[in-house]
Amino acid sequence: MKLTVLGYYGGYPTKGVGTSAYLIESEGFHLLLDAGSGSLLALEKYVDPIKLDAVLISHYHHDHIADLGVLQFTRLLKKDEHGNKPHLLPIYCHDEDKDSFAKMTFENVSQGIAYTKEPELTIGPFKIEHMKTIHPVPCYAFRITEEKTGKALVFTADSGYKKDFIAFSTKADLLLADSNFFRGMENHSVHMTAKECGRIAARAGVQNLMLTHLPQKGDLNQLVAEAREEAPDVSVQLAQKDMTVTI
Ligand SMILES: [Zn+2]
Ligand SMILES: [Zn+2]
Repeated sequence: MKLTVLGYYGGYPTKGVGTSAYLIESEGFHLLLDAGSGSLLALEKYVDPIKLDAVLISHYHHDHIADLGVLQFTRLLKKDEHGNKPHLLPIYCHDEDKDSFAKMTFENVSQGIAYTKEPELTIGPFKIEHMKTIHPVPCYAFRITEEKTGKALVFTADSGYKKDFIAFSTKADLLLADSNFFRGMENHSVHMTAKECGRIAARAGVQNLMLTHLPQKGDLNQLVAEAREEAPDVSVQLAQKDMTVTI
């Protein structure tokens, strides 16, 4: 499967880079993981938004869903080259916030589907497992496995450090982790430090760690150094816009 970073900032966009959004592709299937600010413009470089097959949302904070409304409008108004309207877009999300969940469904455009009813579900070529994170609002991490190859990507979404991430991430091929904080902010109730992300990667036997949900201030290379201290055998990199990784 292929992962493309569309946006990586936590909280708000800046300097031409948006917030949490990733495109995951396999066998011609296009899955948008979170739909943060700026994600629709970033997505357009890779796939026409009307050709998107599904959306998976971790939680309803603005920096993860800001572009969902305009995605719905795009699919309401735009037709393909043959004049056909796009299919009903499944938006997989949790239903623990009823008002937000209701907005995922837009008549003849998109349908909200709660992923919390079953421990795992299939979206196109992917198996999706979820785990609740530590965050002020209900939020879910995902383990996304490409069924054909068994390759796995774990996305922590937004979370404070949780020991269960180690089992959840075991032997994943890539850990995409919320590293919003520098050293000294460990055991926070909203986000993790790079050091905590490194600890999860090392203990879970993950080979590749990508730090994301990055802060707008500070030396980001310091985050990489802090993660490496905990995970000397793990390849650590910062998420960058338009970075594509084959998993
Ligand atoms: Zn966030
Ligand atoms: Zn959040």
